[in-house]
Amino acid sequence: MTCLICAGPAEEIACPSQWEERRCAVCGRYRISNALVRTLMDNGQIFDLVKAREWLKRNGTLHDIPKLVSADRLLQTWNSYNSRSPSFSSRP
Ligand SMILES: [Zn+2]
Repeated sequence: MTCLICAGPAEEIACPSQWEERRCAVCGRYRISNALVRTLMDNGQIFDLVKAREWLKRNGTLHDIPKLVSADRLLQTWNSYNSRSPSFSSRP
């Protein structure tokens, strides 16, 4: 499985069906709502790695997995677009 934030290798973790849960060596463990994943793929949007990882760190605790339901202000802008592949949906 791939990390939905950085597209690196990540472990998929069983979770309720409205969520996608991953454990990534770099980004950590998190959940993203299925609806958000679909929206990002449909729009070809990708996370800004620095902002997304900061958000996860801020919103997760020892006992609570951070849960992303909105990518507001966490997406890459066109200025930093060239540093990554166009979207994680293009990876195998
Ligand atoms: Zn990751």
